[in-house]
Amino acid sequence: MSRAEFPDQKRGVGPAIYVTRPSLPPLGQFIPYLKEIWETRVLTNGGPFHQRLEQALCDYLGVPHISLFTNGTTALVTALQSLRISGEVITTPYSFVATSHSLLWNGIKPVFVDVDPVTLNLDPQKIEAAITPKTTAILAVHCYGRPCDVDAIENIADRYNLRVIYDAAHAFGVTRAGASILNHGDLSVLSFHATKVFNTFEGGAIVCPDAKTKQRIDHLKNFGFADEVTVVAPGINGKMSEFNSALGLLQLEYVDAAIAARREVYLDYRRRLADLPGVECLGNAWLEGSNFSYFPVMITDRYPLTRDGLYAHMRENAVMVRRYFYPLISEMPMYRGLASAAAGNLPVAREASARVLCLPIYEGLDAPSRQRVCDLIAEAAHA
Ligand SMILES: *Cc1c(COP(=O)(O)O)cnc(C)c1O
Repeated sequence: MSRAEFPDQKRGVGPAIYVTRPSLPPLGQFIPYLKEIWETRVLTNGGPFHQRLEQALCDYLGVPHISLFTNGTTALVTALQSLRISGEVITTPYSFVATSHSLLWNGIKPVFVDVDPVTLNLDPQKIEAAITPKTTAILAVHCYGRPCDVDAIENIADRYNLRVIYDAAHAFGVTRAGASILNHGDLSVLSFHATKVFNTFEGGAIVCPDAKTKQRIDHLKNFGFADEVTVVAPGINGKMSEFNSALGLLQLEYVDAAIAARREVYLDYRRRLADLPGVECLGNAWLEGSNFSYFPVMITDRYPLTRDGLYAHMRENAVMVRRYFYPLISEMPMYRGLASAAAGNLPVAREASARVLCLPIYEGLDAPSRQRVCDLIAEAAHA
């Protein structure tokens, strides 16, 4: 990170406020876990903490089976491999780049479909037109943790005999009508990266519906070993270590409190930004079952600055807002040559990519900081 990213001291505008700050449990409580690892010397390969965390996550999330990974990206790559997905896969350009990269790692051609203007998730109404004889699956993202239209996607998948994989990296703990969103589709993939609602420093997981699928995934994350002498597939090393698993087990005890704290920030922002023309809080109509993982706002023409103008203003004042998701995946060099990456195919995603700004949201973002964030937005509007 360059010096210019820490403008706080120079300008005397107060300490930098980052878009996220990872939750951590009390250090003292982690020591007994470390002692246990040191005593048993079981460091990885599906040890006791790994097993306990898998069970604890199944219970917490309300899902039947889960397989832990070193990170979400390896989990995505393995999820596609486990279902033997090939050919073309329909996906969203409005996501973190790992979504599409997981397709390239499997030799699959991404086919970009535009997003819905309200949810910014894959628009089910545009999926069918993108299906070809080579299409084998849909890779959708619950963007900002807001559920995709899972019913419409399932309906299309059933009619065209397609697999469905959800990149649920933003959707830890998200429910719809009281039930986990992670039980939709063939597989859902989580990320436990430091920036996510629930973190194990680095980590990820695949949620799957049956024991047989979980077993195949477990083989694939261990080089393809089915037993000591049998290798069934060119698997990768995706195993979560005992350190990360133990940390996850402890983090899980605090995740409800972290989500509740995020909810407070979320409601406070909504209150403070309510009367500001041109700053639309996305997800206003969606609170129930949310994990409050992000706070995206849409900067419309009623606001005097462009999104990028506001971005610069905030950064100059040491509020390190982020443009999730700019640039679009479809604009990156390894994707922009695809026919489906053409600008005319993705007008809604392009508009969102040019207008959305994500404000800081995390447990421990105090009221004065929230005030500072909102004052800066208001000040620019009235300048
Ligand atoms: C964070 C993220 C990933 C990647 O997860 P890692 O654990 O960082 O590998 C994938 N997709 C989306 C949408 C993400 O936000």
